[in-house]
Amino acid sequence: MNAEASPSRSISTHLRGALGAGRNAWRLTARLALHIALPTLCVSCREPVDGEGVCAACWAKLSFIAQPFCPKLGIPFVYDPGPEMLSMEAIANPPAYARARAAVRYDDVARTLVHALKYQDRTDLAPAMGRWMARAGRELLEEADVLVPVPLHWRRGWSRRYNQSGALARIIERQSGVKLSTEALKRVRPTQQQIGLSRPQRASNVQGAFKVATERQSEIQGRRVVLIDDVLTSGATLDACARALLRAKVASVDALVFARVVDTHKAPI
Ligand SMILES: [Zn+2]
Repeated sequence: MNAEASPSRSISTHLRGALGAGRNAWRLTARLALHIALPTLCVSCREPVDGEGVCAACWAKLSFIAQPFCPKLGIPFVYDPGPEMLSMEAIANPPAYARARAAVRYDDVARTLVHALKYQDRTDLAPAMGRWMARAGRELLEEADVLVPVPLHWRRGWSRRYNQSGALARIIERQSGVKLSTEALKRVRPTQQQIGLSRPQRASNVQGAFKVATERQSEIQGRRVVLIDDVLTSGATLDACARALLRAKVASVDALVFARVVDTHKAPI
């Protein structure tokens, strides 16, 4: 990002000028207030943007995941170990889902986007995030029959008003033509937030939390499912969802997320 364009720099320059001249302070305050009230600021750097909620400079700072990566978990490799080589994690700790793909690494910029979508009602971010997911998951989507977003418990859905995974899944449905099923998979009990929990705690927190509604089983039975979520950390939530879907006799489950934590030991959330 251009240092001259950073909001703190431009605000402090404005302030110095105003104090030095000893006038126009009110007009400056009004202008700053107007600036802050503008509807679309880049969610990451707070510069005004046209249209979608992230400026080009901040998009460029995201770490998009590209080959080479583990064909099972989508974890990027530092060097190319050759075709079909799996990551250590895929061998040591295989999940219930067959494959996972992520658009970006979960770093500071990705975290800002995910939190803004999740907690600040920045639904304007979903189209761009969903398009990048559709691109990262092309291989999975070409073989898929149905998209299933990770559900919220209804109590949390009420307080947050909408499900961010559902918002991303709707964009991916539009991009890929794969049909969306928002009602088949339910969160049957509320779970604690996964933030701050260890890997085994995360797994037990979500164990038995998801279930396929009996009357909806025919929508997904025998189908190839792609689960949609915003972030993959330990994979415990997606694993619990995949188990519930497999119990309901889907043909296969893959997982597609916006961002994944690449080193869970060094980058906890
Ligand atoms: Zn920006």
